[in-house]
Formats: sequence, structure tokens, C-alpha cells
Amino acid sequence: MLRMPMIPLRGISILPNSVQHFDIGRSKSIEALNAAMEDDSMIFLTAQKNLEIEDPKEGDYYDIGVICKIKQVLKLPGDAMRLLVSGVSRGRIDSIDFEEPYIQVYVEDLSRHEKVINYNISESDLETEAMKRVLMEAFEELVTIGGKISPESISSLEQIDDVNKFTDVVASYLPINIKEKQKILETLDIKTRLEELRLLVEKEIQIMKIEEKINRRVKKQINKTQKDYYLREQMRAIQKELGDGEVEETEEMRKYMKKAESLDLDEEVATKVKEEIQRLGKVGSTSAEAGVIRNYLDCILDLPWNKETEDRIDIKMARDILDEDHYGLKDVKERILEYLAIRKLSDNPKAPILCLVGPPGVGKTSIAKSVSRSVERKFIRMSLGGVRDEAEIRGHRRTYIGAIPGRIISSIRKVGTKNPVFLLDEIDKLSGDFRGDPASALLEVLDPEQNSTFTDHYLELPFDLSKVMFITTANTLNTIPGPLLDRMEVIRISGYTRDEKFNIAKKYLLPKQLKEHGLSEEKMTISDNALYEIIDSYTREAGVRNLEREIANLCRKVGKDIVEGISKKARITNNNIVKYLGNKKFRIELIAEQSQIGLVRGLAWTSVGGETLSIEVNIMPGNGKVQLTGKLGDVMKESAMTGISYIRSRMKVLNIDLKFFKEHDIHIHVPEGATPKDGPSAGIAMATAVISAIIGEKIDNKLAMTGEVTLRGTVLPVGGIKEKVLAAHRAGIDRVILPIDNKRDIDEVPNKVKKDIEFTFVKNMDEVIKKVFGKELDDININKGFETVSDVKENNYENK
Ligand code: ADP
Repeated sequence: MLRMPMIPLRGISILPNSVQHFDIGRSKSIEALNAAMEDDSMIFLTAQKNLEIEDPKEGDYYDIGVICKIKQVLKLPGDAMRLLVSGVSRGRIDSIDFEEPYIQVYVEDLSRHEKVINYNISESDLETEAMKRVLMEAFEELVTIGGKISPESISSLEQIDDVNKFTDVVASYLPINIKEKQKILETLDIKTRLEELRLLVEKEIQIMKIEEKINRRVKKQINKTQKDYYLREQMRAIQKELGDGEVEETEEMRKYMKKAESLDLDEEVATKVKEEIQRLGKVGSTSAEAGVIRNYLDCILDLPWNKETEDRIDIKMARDILDEDHYGLKDVKERILEYLAIRKLSDNPKAPILCLVGPPGVGKTSIAKSVSRSVERKFIRMSLGGVRDEAEIRGHRRTYIGAIPGRIISSIRKVGTKNPVFLLDEIDKLSGDFRGDPASALLEVLDPEQNSTFTDHYLELPFDLSKVMFITTANTLNTIPGPLLDRMEVIRISGYTRDEKFNIAKKYLLPKQLKEHGLSEEKMTISDNALYEIIDSYTREAGVRNLEREIANLCRKVGKDIVEGISKKARITNNNIVKYLGNKKFRIELIAEQSQIGLVRGLAWTSVGGETLSIEVNIMPGNGKVQLTGKLGDVMKESAMTGISYIRSRMKVLNIDLKFFKEHDIHIHVPEGATPKDGPSAGIAMATAVISAIIGEKIDNKLAMTGEVTLRGTVLPVGGIKEKVLAAHRAGIDRVILPIDNKRDIDEVPNKVKKDIEFTFVKNMDEVIKKVFGKELDDININKGFETVSDVKENNYENK
């Protein structure tokens, strides 16, 4: 009995009388290898029955395997090893010595059971020899027809006299699976083994023959299609020579014809369809062009040429639907209802196109959806953000490979009616470049003079878009091309106040999200304070999109706790909100703690709503440089320079020393440098801050202002007044200076805010100065102020 380490093999098996290499990686195998190498390099290898078992125990591997000698070991990257072994003889596990840290077995060498033939002695030996020859012949046949086994194998087999070795080498050449190999291994009686091998070889020959038959059949098939194609091409060429002959009608053509007839198409469309069907017949069904024609026909026949839904314009019902979906927005709803009423009164195709303008998340999309619901039309939304290529709107000509219709026609095809409500989102984000001007294509879509015959490049046929109810949205009107803007009736939706957001959340967003997350009101409640906390500290926006997202976030977390059985219900309050939503994300930018020199509060409007901006100015000795920092846009920089020029032109009245600007530098900084800021609306604020710094008078910390300033000191109106005032209110401001021409915008400001803030409307800078510093211009004493700002000695200015 031999005692040696063992490695169970996965996916391979080894036969005696052969040399083989394989990789090992399992730690137990490596341990076994090490043990063998320390001893006499002998190892027992046997196949594992189930490949998936990672750590096989007794019974998981075959008892009969091969006693091998390790010839070579190569370390691979990682922990793996590559072994080269040579099979010495068959062995059978007698017992297991131990299984940890590697498997060690007692093995019985089976070679003494194998028969050694002594030729010419017995009949039995002659029979064995005969069987060996038969096997050899069969093997040779396999090699000649197969091509998978190298012909050299024959000559090497011819040199083997030992019949045992012969069988093992034959077996190692055959493409047989592990089970079959194992069977050969386990068959000790040489005649049986010879017989089994012959059966395996015969089986292999049969398989090869069938394989060849299949190959021949496939080849024939390919030849036939090639021939068909060739003939068809010839036929086409001949037809072309003879002029357009009649094409034989195929089943496919009949199918298209039938569909076209059922659609009751206009003559122009019907003719085009017929032509294309004929063309399909001519090009032959297998050609690449046929695919293109099919796509085209499918597209045309799918389009809703005459299909429309019936309108329901019932103003009362429309009002109910708008109210059902949206809180507040009184004016907006009225405007929409007026618009619908007019459409009802006159079915005028020239009705203007609604354009809903406002910051993100104020409900533009959802209003458009409600409109479609109330008139019972289908709804499509198409975002124009980043559309630069005209072809995106109007499609590519069919000569382009892979051409498709533009997005307008594709969307219409998708909804399947020719009169949907079509929302063109973010019309202000259209941009044109060398690939054409999408705005002009859009103009054609929206223009009632032209849109009844809108021609998509792909379609090559006019499609009537005049029945579509277009609604557009934009964040700002500034970037909408003029001609487009002219076509539109603008409805502004400004941001919401804190209380409006609270009500929207409580009455609309929370119930909606609870429902979407499968929660009921008993399972999750949010206290009013917590809701305000979400609005103030977790979102900073004009609309309610992030608010809705945070509420959805809460629902998800609560839902998860309920499903996991951690809790049955949750009440979100100010005390536990951090647990659900994490740390606060925003801090309201409150007013500065005290009034300071050279620090003023401006008001800005960004696409997410209004914000307050602190503007800081320092003056220092220098030579007249003006420095502007805080990521200011060009327009804002220019407006700062304009303010300074104005101040310089008024030096006399302002009592400023004539040399002042020659001898000092001015630095204007708008903190929170990461947010880009632009626009002219901080003009008066910047000029005021500069004056404050020069004259050394403090500016009230509860005062804010906005307005553009000209070189002559005139104050011009600016946009976004409602949002700016709301932001000022939020920050704790109680006095706001606004351009006189913005007076009417105050109507939009909610009464509650109007009560808390005192407004001053100004025509020019002189009035601003009077309001801020509380004095007429002539009273201002430059020397006093300047000293406070930069510590320059008073006598520097004596000689004014
Ligand atoms: P926009 O198109 O202006 O970016 P959305 O229409 O996508 O905004 O609105 C974002 C979310 O806020 C939607 O779920 C919408 O229903 C909701 N919402 C916005 N305004 C209101 C409102 N006044 N009342 C109820 N829900 C609103």
C-alpha cells in the first residue's frame, strides 16, 4: 500500500502513460503539492464527481485515479501553480489517512492487475492482439475523416507494443468526456477496455459523418441564396434595360397594399405608398434596400394621417382638473382657462401657442399634462434642451444610411393621433450650429401658416400638424429667438413662497408620494415643523422639485423600515429628520449681523429662483486699478465699471478728491465664488457699496436693492422682482430699493411679504444715495469715510 498526498481534479482527468499539465489554485491542493514535493514527488490524482464542490470530501471524488510523478512546478501570478505530471499507473484509494490540511490517502497500485501479454502463448493473447488491430484500424479511419486528430498520432501509436499503454494513449487522443475517460480508467480487463474504446471510436466516426452531412447541406443553402440574389440582380438589370416592366406581386406587397387601402389616405400619400411598394417588389426581398423601404412604409402606414381624438372643452371641468392637480397658481389657471375658452369659441388654427415660463419645478410640465387631461387629448413631451441639429426636428433624408424621421414625426407616430397636446420643453435651451438651425425648423412647426404641410426630410411628404395643441416651456425668455417668441403667448409662473411650498407639499406632494410608495397616512406622518425644515434646510429652489424628491426619499426610508419589520409606522418631526434625510444641506443666508462700511445686500435672480448676494468693497492705496472677483459674468463686470464711471463723473457732487482714483485701488468682491453670477441687476448695489467704502458711511444691514445703473446714473428696471423680493424676505430684509419702472411688479408679491417689507422706488442713483445714507449728496464728507476704510492719513487729501 502506498501513502501519498492527493489532489482532486476538476474538469480534467489523467490517464497513465501520458504526460499532462494543469493548474491548481485551491489551498488544499497547494498544500498537497508541497507535501508531495517534500517527499518523493509522487501524487495521486483523481477526478471530482461534481465540479462545483469547492472542498470535496470522501465520496465526492472517484476512488480510482492515477498515481503520478510530478515533473515540473511553475508558479503562476497569484497563488496558482502549474504542474507537469506524468501518469505512472492506475491506483485505487484504499483508505483516507487524513483530509486536513490536505488529503492524504493510502493507494493500492493496480498495475499488477493489468495484463501483460506474452505473445504466441495463448489464444487469449492472440485475440487481444486482434482486437488491438481492429481498434487501430477504426482509429485510423477516424483520423482520415475527422481532421480533428493529428495524423501524427497514428505513427506514434504504431510504435507502442504494450497493449495497456496503447489503450491509454488512444483514449488520450479521443475527444471524449470525463465520465467516459473515467470508465476507461476503471476498466482493468484489457479486452473489455479494447472493446469499449472501439465503440467510442465508432461512435465518434458516426458523429463526424453526420457533422459533415450537415455542413454540406448548409453550404448548399448558402449557394442557393447567392444564386437567387445574383439572378434577381440580373432580372433587375434586364428590367431596367427594357423600361419598367410589371413586377410580380409578392405576399408582402399585398400585405402593404391592403394596409394602405384600409387607411383612407390622401392622394399624394397613397401614390407615394404605391410607388414604394412597387419599388419593394423590384429590389427583391433580400436586398439591403428592401429593409430601408420596409422601414419607410412601416413608418408612413403607422402615422395617424386621419386619426384624431375628439375634444372636450368644458371650462368648468377643466377648472376642476387644474385645481385637482395644482395648488394656488390662480392667475396661471385663469389664463389657461381663457385660452381654452377662446379655442372653444373659434376653432382658429392661428391661436397663439402657450409658453409657460418659470424656474424648474414650478409645475410647468404638470400644468401642460392637466391641460391634455382636461381636453381629453393624448400627451407628448419632447425636450429641446441641447438640440442643435436641425435634423433632430426635421429628420434625415433617406439617402443617409440609417436615416430616421425627426423627433416631431416620431412622437406623433408614437401617440397615434394627429391632435395631441405637444409639450416642447425648454425651448430656451435650443442652440444652433453648423448643422443647421433648429430654431427655424421649430418655427415652421409652430407657424400656423406653414405647419399644416410640415415636411419631414425622411418622410418627404407633408404632414398636417395644425391640429396639434403646442405648449412650450422655458426657464427664461432671454434666449428664445425673437420670431419664435412672437408666436407665443407667455404665461409666467414664478417661484413659490415658503408657505405656498408648505401647502403644496402637504396637500399634493405628500399624498402623491405616499400613494406611489404604497404607504398610507397612518403609516407615515410629517409634522408641520418638519415640513418647513425640509423646505428651509434641505432644498434651495424656486419650485418644488427637490422638495418632492426629499419627500420621496422619506417615503422610501420609512417603507424600508416597515418592510424590514423595524417599525410599523413613522412620524417625522424636527427631532428625527436628520436620521432620515441626513445632515442639513442649506443654511438660509441671513442678513449680516451688523451694518458695515462697503458691504451691501444685492438681489439676484438665478434659474432656481431669487437669492440675496452680499457685495463687498475695499479701497486701498494704489494706482487706480479696479479688481472684480467672485466669478462674475461679463455683463456684471461691465455693470460694475459703469457704476464706477458714474461715481467718477459725480466726484465733485460727491465731494470726492479729484486724485482719489489715481491713488487708490478698488476691489469689489461677491462671495460664494463657486456660483457664477451675471447680469446688470446688481448695478446700483455695486455702485452703492463703492460709494460707502469711499465716504465711509455704513449701509443698513436690513436693506437690500436691485436695479441696473447707466453711466448717467439712471436706474433701469430689472427682471425677477417677485423672486428677488421673496429671497429678501426669507433672509430677513425689511427695506428694499427697486427701480421705479418695476413698481407694477410688486402686485405679484404675496400680501404677507408686502406687509413685512418697505419698498422704495427710485429713478436715479442720487435717490439711492439719499435713501441709503440718509442725506443729500452735498453733505457727504469724503475724508471722514476714507480713513475708516483703509487707514490712510487725513492729510493725504488736504489739497482737494
Ligand atoms: P417644471 O416642468 O416646471 O420643471 P414640474 O411640472 O415637473 O415642473 O413639477 C415638479 C413637481 O412639482 C411635479 O410633481 C408637480 O406635480 C409638482 N408641482 C409643481 N407645482 C405644483 C402646484 N402648484 N401644486 C401641486 N403640485 C405642484
